[in-house]
Amino acid sequence: MRQVHKRTKIVATMGPASSKKEVLLSMIKAGVDVCRINFSHGRLSDHLVVINTIRELNQKYKTNVGILADLQGPKIRIGMVKDGGIHLVNGNTIDITTVEQIGDDEKIYITYPSFPKDVRVGEVILLDDGKLQMRVLGTNNKDTVNCEIIHGGILTSRKGVNLPNTKVSIPSLTEDDLANLEFALANDVEWIGLSFVRTAEDIVDLKRIISRSGKSARVIAKVEKPEAIDNIDAIIEVTDGVMVARGDLGVEMPMEQVPVLQKMIARKCREASKPVIVATQMLESMITTPRPTRAEVNDVANSVLDGADAVMLSGETSVGEFPLIVIETMAKIIKNVEDTAYPYHTPKKLNMKSSTYNADAVCGSAVYLSEKTDAIGIISMTSSGYTAFEISSHRPKAGTFIFTSNRVLLNSLSLLWGVRGFYYDKFVSTDESISDVNAILKAENLIEDGEVVINTAAMPIEKKGKTNMIRVTVVE
Ligand code: PEP
Repeated sequence: MRQVHKRTKIVATMGPASSKKEVLLSMIKAGVDVCRINFSHGRLSDHLVVINTIRELNQKYKTNVGILADLQGPKIRIGMVKDGGIHLVNGNTIDITTVEQIGDDEKIYITYPSFPKDVRVGEVILLDDGKLQMRVLGTNNKDTVNCEIIHGGILTSRKGVNLPNTKVSIPSLTEDDLANLEFALANDVEWIGLSFVRTAEDIVDLKRIISRSGKSARVIAKVEKPEAIDNIDAIIEVTDGVMVARGDLGVEMPMEQVPVLQKMIARKCREASKPVIVATQMLESMITTPRPTRAEVNDVANSVLDGADAVMLSGETSVGEFPLIVIETMAKIIKNVEDTAYPYHTPKKLNMKSSTYNADAVCGSAVYLSEKTDAIGIISMTSSGYTAFEISSHRPKAGTFIFTSNRVLLNSLSLLWGVRGFYYDKFVSTDESISDVNAILKAENLIEDGEVVINTAAMPIEKKGKTNMIRVTVVE
């Protein structure tokens, strides 16, 4: 079967290494589908330049690269420390204070005002991605927590803090997040990521704000806390997509559990037709070297086999030395798995009680028919995007070509496994629209005379209802 494009998508984090127009264009041509703007770093003015560049490239090169704006959420950090770094010695004690000051080897500041009230004796405090570890000896319940240093080392300014055992009371959206969210919505980004999600309510609250703003951005729940694992079913039910944020997840939970958690989350997301991104340290060594380690190649390949919709790059593309080579490498790994070992047409159970049962059955049947007829493509029209999410979740071997008149949706669909979006706004009659969209794909050399395609649509077309029709067509 002729298939040119990779199905598993690539999310690339933007930064100084990748935000120049020419570099970004070459990365998009090499396989970037979604650009991540990380609000943990950089200024809004810099992010705006990147957003405008992506939009300009989309317009000029007719691409649909989506934007994922990643909110920092309740990330906790220590403050500045003296002399650029302090030495924490195993067995020594140190105070953590909520009173802002320059830290030294006796006292360091933490950006979490109610920490002394929330923490309990014996709980673990991890610093700098878990490299340094302390244990709580006591708290004055006001402004100071006394700790024993378990694993010491050099601690530099503004490092992240993880509290795997503590019930953190900071709200899921901080003041900074609200300001960044306003900026992201004003600039019509397609996806909003929320870090350190703990409960389904965190996502519901964020969605409420988005909906009040009148925008249609979709939400990605970043799973990186044990509470999120405990609440994973409820979170998947309300979110639009999930990120397995392995960096923090592997600090907050025993890191040997992460590979199995990744498989569990990917499976649940596919069953729920919600896209899942696997993130962090995928090609980490390529930040400074042009070839990945064999273990990294395995990690990308296995994440594809686990059923990820997308694999994500962080430092590799934001600050690394080889952003283009990284994308080329990742795309080659993905393509090789997809060409040789991918489990296409993975069956899914249908929920007879679901209000979308009929449409789900039609989408599943379209994928089944595509397999039986060795079809080159499944071609669908959608106004809500529902059909695209549903067909993609069956992982068809045939290309998934989605036509919509909703431009924001078009870029959102770039995150979905196997989906290629096209703009189309002439919904006249079902027959005419089907022959139109097939002709567009033929003109783009994506389908050829004699090949079979599966068309789906919602009839009558002007009602813009849910998908309810399938047609098998031989292209001519
Ligand atoms: C992670 O922790 O894996 C992650 C993606 O989060 P961030 O890069 O925002 O720290």
